Amino acid sequence: MLPEVAADTALLRQYVADEKGLAISALKGIRVLKRSIDARQRTIFVNLKVRLYINEQPTDDEYVHTDYPDVSDKPQVIVVGAGPGGLFAALRLIELGLRPIVLERGKDVHERKKDLAAIARTQQVDGESNYCFGEGGAGAYSDGKLYTRSKKRGNIEKILNVFCQHGASTAILADAHPHIGTDRLPQVIEAMRNTIIRCGGEVHFQTKMTRLLLDGNKVVGCVAENKEFKGSVILATGHSARDVYRYFDQEKIELEAKGIAVGVRLEHPSKLIDQIQYHRKEGRGQWLPAAEYSFVTQVDGRGVYSFCMCPGGFVIPAATGPEQVVVNGMSPASRGTQWSNSGMVVELRPEDVEGDDVLRVLRYQEELERMCWQQANMKQTAPAQRMADFVNGKLSYDLPRSSYAPGLVSSPLHFWLPKPISSRLQQGFKVFGRQAHGFLTNEAVMIAIETRTSSPVRIIRDNDTLLHVRLQGLFPCGEGAGYAGGIVSAGVDGERCAEMCAEWMKSNA
Ligand SMILES: Cc1cc2nc3c(=O)[nH]c(=O)nc-3n(C[C@H](O)[C@H](O)[C@H](O)COP(=O)(O)OP(=O)(O)OC[C@H]3O[C@@H](n4cnc5c(N)ncnc54)[C@H](O)[C@@H]3O)c2cc1C
Repeated sequence: MLPEVAADTALLRQYVADEKGLAISALKGIRVLKRSIDARQRTIFVNLKVRLYINEQPTDDEYVHTDYPDVSDKPQVIVVGAGPGGLFAALRLIELGLRPIVLERGKDVHERKKDLAAIARTQQVDGESNYCFGEGGAGAYSDGKLYTRSKKRGNIEKILNVFCQHGASTAILADAHPHIGTDRLPQVIEAMRNTIIRCGGEVHFQTKMTRLLLDGNKVVGCVAENKEFKGSVILATGHSARDVYRYFDQEKIELEAKGIAVGVRLEHPSKLIDQIQYHRKEGRGQWLPAAEYSFVTQVDGRGVYSFCMCPGGFVIPAATGPEQVVVNGMSPASRGTQWSNSGMVVELRPEDVEGDDVLRVLRYQEELERMCWQQANMKQTAPAQRMADFVNGKLSYDLPRSSYAPGLVSSPLHFWLPKPISSRLQQGFKVFGRQAHGFLTNEAVMIAIETRTSSPVRIIRDNDTLLHVRLQGLFPCGEGAGYAGGIVSAGVDGERCAEMCAEWMKSNA
C-alpha cells in the first residue's frame, strides 16, 4: 500500500476491509507482523504482513514474555561487562537458575551521559566513561540498529522480545530493519538492569576487572577494584578493552590477531540521501522514514563498504582514552536530524599489518587513532575533507555544517591516511557514485577516523563448549572476544555463553 495508508490506522483499516471484503465494523483489530519499504520503483510501496482480528478483540500478547525467577540463593556466575553481551548473558543465567554478578568498569547509563556531553565542551575523553565504556556498552548511545546478517546463530527473535519486555517499541518485531534509537535505549537498558537486581543478581558500576583468579588451568573468579569475585567468568568486555587484551597477552592466555575494517564516517545531508534512495526531488516526504543505504565493492582484493549506517543521525566522538580521535555514529528514534552518516571502511586483514604478534592489529588501530589526534590539533575536533575533494586529491578550503559536536578541522585525508586505505576509498567512492547518482558529492564530508569496527583480537574458545581453549570456567563472549559484531549478535552470543556456562557448572558440580 502507499506509505500514507500504512501510516494511518483509519486508512489502513479501510484498505484492509476493502481488500478482504469485510465490513469495517467486523474488523476489531489489526496487528502489523512485518513491515518493509519497497523503493525500487518511482511509486514507493510499504509491504505489510498483518494479522486481522475479525469479530474478536485482540487478546494475545504483542511479544513473547520471559519469566525471570528469584535466584538470590543460587550459585553465582561473574559477568564482566554490561554491554549487550553481558546483559543478555546475565538475564539468561537468571532464566537458568543462576545468580549473575555483573561487573562494569563504567558508570550507569544515565551518569554516563554527562561524560559524553562533556567531550565536546572539554575536548577530553574520560577513559572509563565514554561512548564505549559504561552500562549498555558500546550499543547504549548508538542508532540501536537491531538487524544482523547472521541468521543462524541463536535466537534473534528472543533478543528482540526481551528488548520489548524491557520497554522497546514492539515495532522492532515487525520492521525489516528495526532500530531503537539513542534516546530510547537508556530506559530499556535500565529496565534490564532492574530485572537483574530484582531477581537477586548484582550489578557493580565503576568496577574494573584487572585480573583473573586461577586455580591451575581453571578460572575461579576475578579481581576488580582490589576485591575478589568468585565464580565462573563470562568475559564480555567489548572491542575497546585494550587493557584486557594486554593482560591476556602478558599472561600468555591464548589470543589471535583478527582483521578489522578502517576508514571514515561519511556524512551527507539526509535530504540528499532521501532524494537518491527514494528517487524523487521532495525526498522522504511526510510518511517515509529517513532513507538507508548500503554499498559494497572490492578494490585490489579487499572489501570497501558502508558500515553501521545512521540515517537522520549524528557523528560522535568514540575514543576511549587520551591521544585518540575515533568517530562513530548514532541516531535518535525519530532519525530526524538533517544528516545521514555511515562508516565507509576498507577491510584490513592481519597479514596487511607488519609483524607477527597477536596485538599487531590493535597497535595499528592505536597508531591511526593517535595520528588522527595529532592531525586534529590534539583535541577531539576531527580531521575532515569534502568527499569529492578527497577523490580528486584536493584540500577542502571550507567544510559543510556537520553534526559532529566537538568540531571539524579541514585536513588532506587523501594525503595522510595510509595509501592502502585512502586509494581503495577513492576508488570505492567512484563505484558508489556510479551506482547512486549524486552520492559522490562535495556536499558530503568525510570525518576521520573509524577504526572500532570490530575487535582486533580474538580470544580463542572452543566452538562447541564456548570455553576458552585452555582455561576452564572462562567463557569469552561477544564482540570483544571476536564472536559478535553488533547489538543483536552480541546478545545472542551472551545467551549462548550463559547456557554453556550453566551446562559446564552442572557437569563440574
Ligand atoms: C557509537 C556506536 C554505535 C553503534 N551502533 C550500533 C548499532 O546501531 N547497531 C548495532 O548492532 N551495533 C552498533 N554498534 C556496535 C555494538 O554496540 C557492539 O557490537 C556491541 O555493543 C558489542 O556488545 P558487547 O557486549 O560484546 O561489548 P560492548 O558493548 O563493547 O560492552 C563491553 C562492556 O564491557 C565493559 N568493560 C570493558 N572492560 C572491562 C573490565 N575490565 N571490567 C569491567 N567492565 C569492562 C565496557 O565498559 C562495556 O560496557 C555501535 C557501536 C558504537 C561504539
